[in-house]
Amino acid sequence: MENIDWGNLPFGYLKTDYNVRCYYREGKWGELEISSSEYLNLHIAATSIHYGQEAFEGMKAFRGKDNKIRVFRWKENAKRMIASASGIRMAEVPLDLFKKAIWKVVALNKKYVPPYGSGASLYIRPLLIGVGAEVGVKPAKDYLFLVFVSPVGPYFKEGIKPVDMMICRDCDRAAPLGTGHIKVGGNYAASMVAIHRAHSNGFANVVFLDAKEKNFIDECGPANFFGIKNNTYITPDSPSILPSITNKCLIQLAQDMGMKTEIRKVKVDELASFEEAGACGTAAVISPISMIVDIEEGVTYKYGNQDKPGPISMKLYQKLQAIQTGDEPDPYGWIDIIE
Ligand SMILES: *Cc1c(COP(=O)(O)O)cnc(C)c1O
Repeated sequence: MENIDWGNLPFGYLKTDYNVRCYYREGKWGELEISSSEYLNLHIAATSIHYGQEAFEGMKAFRGKDNKIRVFRWKENAKRMIASASGIRMAEVPLDLFKKAIWKVVALNKKYVPPYGSGASLYIRPLLIGVGAEVGVKPAKDYLFLVFVSPVGPYFKEGIKPVDMMICRDCDRAAPLGTGHIKVGGNYAASMVAIHRAHSNGFANVVFLDAKEKNFIDECGPANFFGIKNNTYITPDSPSILPSITNKCLIQLAQDMGMKTEIRKVKVDELASFEEAGACGTAAVISPISMIVDIEEGVTYKYGNQDKPGPISMKLYQKLQAIQTGDEPDPYGWIDIIE
């Protein structure tokens, strides 16, 4: 712990001192427990490991110039986890329990919240799993809500850098009436073959199309897609997209910068008309896209200068980061300070 190189931390797991846990048993949530173990003692027939009763969240805390710890939009994550739980028939974590767990785990690990100016932050990972034993396919009776944290480095070490993406036409992440709109592990499992293929071909990630018609943009791997043209921020509307909180923020910021915003279906061939394109999510905030290759169709879409993010993507990125670290005021109530 003594000598963490904050500026060179990867985006990965680093052991901290504590995690917090709460069990749902006999129809109710118990007391929040503090643990210093990195392991779970799990029943071999737990529904999470057989039938995918698992949902998670990803959020961040930042240290400001004033040294205060800021948590970003935790309530949005809490609400999304409720939607995820209800979408796969798990016990829902109430907002107050979610908040209590976040506050506790951050306070217990406050020495791991990276210093202001390092570009690093504290990644917070809430997890909800079925722990009750079942052999037939049905929801567990018992659940575990757990939150761990890990300090993570800036996603782009040498500054925000555009990436290349690959359209995947022979794999789907989520079905239109499936579970794409909730943050459950099964969606990630379903995306791994495609993401592996993208990586082995030198691409940063996959652009998934809508599963039914293969005609509209869905998501960029584990991030939402946006395109910019004619002073308009455009992001796809689809029932299989996970509603990104980062995307919501960018829509708000774009509007307040005087841009128009559109949430609507985006046809694949509309990619040719964008001036800028990007992927957005908590981990990287924005990954600007330099190129999208549609191998099967033999088409490549290119955006701006290959080494530099477009001006609007950059402006949105800087604005959101400034609010997160407290460098700029937070008129939206996105920040909560953990004393
Ligand atoms: C978590 C996630 C995102 C990003 O959501 P944020 O709330 O912005 O972090 C986008 N797509 C998928 C599939 C995700 O799981």
